[in-house]
Amino acid sequence: METVAACLQWGELTLAQAAPELLASCKVDSQWLLAHVLQRNSAWLRAWPDQAVSDEQRLRYQQLVGRRAAGEPVAYLTGQQGFWSLDLCVTEDTLVPRPDTELLVEQALLLFGAEPRSVVDLGTGSGAIALALAHERPAWSVTATDIHGPALAVAGRNSQQLAIPLQLVESAWFENLPGQRFHLIVSNPPYIEAEDEHLQGVGVRYEPLRALVSGVDGLDDIRQIVAQAPDHLYAGGWLLLEHGYNQGDAVRTLLLARGFDKVRTVQDLGDNDRVTLGQWRAHTNGGQTHADG
Ligand code: GLN
Repeated sequence: METVAACLQWGELTLAQAAPELLASCKVDSQWLLAHVLQRNSAWLRAWPDQAVSDEQRLRYQQLVGRRAAGEPVAYLTGQQGFWSLDLCVTEDTLVPRPDTELLVEQALLLFGAEPRSVVDLGTGSGAIALALAHERPAWSVTATDIHGPALAVAGRNSQQLAIPLQLVESAWFENLPGQRFHLIVSNPPYIEAEDEHLQGVGVRYEPLRALVSGVDGLDDIRQIVAQAPDHLYAGGWLLLEHGYNQGDAVRTLLLARGFDKVRTVQDLGDNDRVTLGQWRAHTNGGQTHADG
């Protein structure tokens, strides 16, 4: 295992044999990890298969592949994850941003254009959603909250490194946003059932439970957010929530019961229910639509 090609082949095979869940990404994972160790990109790896890998580099690579084989996310091993068009730092304090969550960003961007708007991303973690929105809509004022100080620090670091301004507030949902109203509230809250067997699986085992689990039916946090959101939305403002593939019905029911209009669920690329949105009473004052005005 002294060349790039030999390292990649070994890494791919090791990961493929480690766990069924790792099979689909074994090739790209082995590339990411070797690229990280060699401080190159995957195009360089493809161009230089016969390049020598030093003993020290090979050892570091073997260690990283070993940790990946045990289920640690590549993003924690390299400290980086792509989301939307951004390269984000991630640590064990934050969830690894998922491609599915880009659906939430897309839907939010469809609701309002370039005009100034105030937006909050509740439970921002690495800052993924907030930063993508602020990047696409520079005139929006984007607040990002998290209950966990170290996660908020990661969002702050990303905001600084990418030069995308965010207002950071350490807060359990709306607790430290008294009296503040927004045109748009977005969140990818924890939504997994406490007893869900997937929590033991390679997919999420290393990620913070705090960011994943939300009570017996997975809906404790969504219930809180839906209950409180109207106190923090302008008339005509929107609430957008990511949720589990089997929670679309339940989340629509919660939004309708709370008095939201235009409630609907959007499917992700895998055709699973993934994001539900609703508008807060646009027409309470004789048809005036404050959030659009
Ligand atoms: N908002 C962050 C993300 O989508 C973190 C979500 C979470 O920790 N539940 O990646």
